[in-house]
Amino acid sequence: MWRKNSHNVRIYFYLAALGAGIILLSILIFSKPMPVYEEKIIPVFGTYVRLNVAGDKVSPDVLIKMAERELYQIHNKYSANVENSIVWELNKNGKVKVDDEALFLFQSAINYAIITGGAFDPTIRPLLELWGFDDANSSEKRVPSQEEINNVLSYVDYRFINIDEKNMEVSFLKEGVQVDLGGIAKGYAIDLVIQRIRAIDPKATGFIDAGGDIGIIGPKFGELAWVIGIRDPFSNDTFKSMDTIYLTDGTVATSGDYERFFVQNGTKYHHIIDPQTGYPAQGISSVTVIAPNATAADTFATALFVLGFDNPALEYFTNFGIQAMIVSNNGEIRETSGFNYFREKLK
Ligand code: AMP
Ligand code: MG
Repeated sequence: MWRKNSHNVRIYFYLAALGAGIILLSILIFSKPMPVYEEKIIPVFGTYVRLNVAGDKVSPDVLIKMAERELYQIHNKYSANVENSIVWELNKNGKVKVDDEALFLFQSAINYAIITGGAFDPTIRPLLELWGFDDANSSEKRVPSQEEINNVLSYVDYRFINIDEKNMEVSFLKEGVQVDLGGIAKGYAIDLVIQRIRAIDPKATGFIDAGGDIGIIGPKFGELAWVIGIRDPFSNDTFKSMDTIYLTDGTVATSGDYERFFVQNGTKYHHIIDPQTGYPAQGISSVTVIAPNATAADTFATALFVLGFDNPALEYFTNFGIQAMIVSNNGEIRETSGFNYFREKLK
């Protein structure tokens, strides 16, 4: 009796061990390992671009290298300060031959100018030069005289840009016009990098953060929202946030008067210029825009900054698929009706 029992126990033991082995093996074979995120900080666009990515099929190293190449390529192609870039040549000669991508980017910039009633205006460059916010090595930050501003204002109007699709050429209709795509290029670069990453690894996840403009590559670990802090515009601490939003896809951009500025006689002068007055836009400390793509988020953040805190058209802009939150100089907050939705952690 005892012998038989011990025999049975042994059989049960072997069966249980076999079962456990099979379960363990199937876990090893069928379960996916947790994505491994890799991060790289890339100095480009006069800021630091932070790329945090995990591949599904492709190693993150490969994705990072490709993204890095694309970012430098976009910068060298469109920066007004890079010799022989498309924008540099256009500013120098008043015309330039363009490829499909450049045509699209100029057309987009003009469309955003039209949509925002000229609050976003790519011909802002002469004003940026005057105030010393043009990023050129030689530029000096200073308050220009009213006369200087008036002179330059006559060259600032996006309607001076002519796009000739047939001959693939962009030109100026007035001598002295200068463009700067600094208000759109970063956003466009984010969209392009995300598109490229998804093209070679559709299930890659992560985010790209280009100095306040963030695009989601894919949700964290394939399912969770990324937690994004919105910077407190009144703090010198870059990491202090005033609010938190959650994104599993899409993009968010914040424009703040803390990004680039100088102080003269107690007044703060920053880099977002009102194309109508020629002065840094008044009344706002920061604008955050959530949009399906970073080109829209980037340009609308700049435009809404220019349009001011009392902007009666704030809600109207949700027709373009965006949500926005604006913070006035004295800390008041206004936001579009759907912005609050992004404060909810859905997962
Ligand atoms: P951001 O840092 O995204 O707010 O973009 C501001 C950048 O856009 C500046 O550094 C300028 O290069 C450019 N910019 C400033 N004011 C304007 C404007 N009114 N329209 C278009 N671009 C602008
Ligand atoms: Mg912007």
